[in-house]
Amino acid sequence: MNAIQWVLTRTYTFIALALGAVAIYIIGYDTSKLMTYFLLPFYLVCLLMQFALPKIKAPLEKGELTTDLISNTVTITTVNALQNMVLGIMFAWGSSSLLIHFNIIDESFGLANLPIWAQALCAFLIADFFFYVTHRMAHEVPFFWKFHSIHHSAHRVTFMNAYRVHPVDAMFRRYVPLFFVTLSGVSIEALSLVIVFSTILATVTHMNVDLRHGWFNYIIATNELHRWHHSKKYSEAKNFALFTLWDHLFGTYYWPRDRDIPEETGLGDETNYPLHNYWQLLLIPFRWNKLDAKDTTKKTQQDTGRISTNEEPNQSSQIT
Ligand SMILES: [Zn+2]
Ligand SMILES: [Zn+2]
Repeated sequence: MNAIQWVLTRTYTFIALALGAVAIYIIGYDTSKLMTYFLLPFYLVCLLMQFALPKIKAPLEKGELTTDLISNTVTITTVNALQNMVLGIMFAWGSSSLLIHFNIIDESFGLANLPIWAQALCAFLIADFFFYVTHRMAHEVPFFWKFHSIHHSAHRVTFMNAYRVHPVDAMFRRYVPLFFVTLSGVSIEALSLVIVFSTILATVTHMNVDLRHGWFNYIIATNELHRWHHSKKYSEAKNFALFTLWDHLFGTYYWPRDRDIPEETGLGDETNYPLHNYWQLLLIPFRWNKLDAKDTTKKTQQDTGRISTNEEPNQSSQIT
């Protein structure tokens, strides 16, 4: 590894966050302009980084790229668009808070009264707590796992499969946290800060590049931690939040210092699972019982996977 690569892999995330701050300073809090002039070029750089410095150099599997491309397109055009529309309506009312809008609480209680950095921090903590809750539910409640299993069906963690998600799963894990943030009454400027910095971190989280973050791994679930979340082994598939505070608090933080990546990434049991066919993946939750997958959630097999076709929602003891 040459010196430039060594420095780049240890500074990439921090440079991206710093550039995000510069972009907000120059462009302002307009999220659509920030998307066009900062986040889209950032995505492109991430893609080029992965192409130039892939950590896991496996050839693409049959149908993998097509599945990811369709999934990314659907997520961006439906889930993101619906989210932007709802947020647009709320701010057109003059406040992000439903509670204030419907006179349930007085405007003086809204977080918009705090300095912007404090609003953004509160909004990030609120959003990420509910992201932790919904993400953990997606793993431990069979109904939600039927949808979320699609995100875990890829055999490696890359920038391209960050949006390999069922739209129902994406809406559940995105809209519930946003709903609770909007109850708090943060300003549109603070929400823009949260969206930009969360997007940077969530993108880094799935990058197939050997980035090294050191102490930062104790605070944010970087790609070093998130690879473990995608492990085939149930006991390693932890790290549910973006802000690791919640994983530390609830005993689901996992970072084995003596190992670099999980032995295997993906679903524990892929029997009859259509790995790289987007339209069949969309139907999986509705065809679950016909998958005839092995029941791998029993405690005797708790390290072998997470597909369950007939298990009741009682898996929390295995994951904490
Ligand atoms: Zn997950
Ligand atoms: Zn992931």
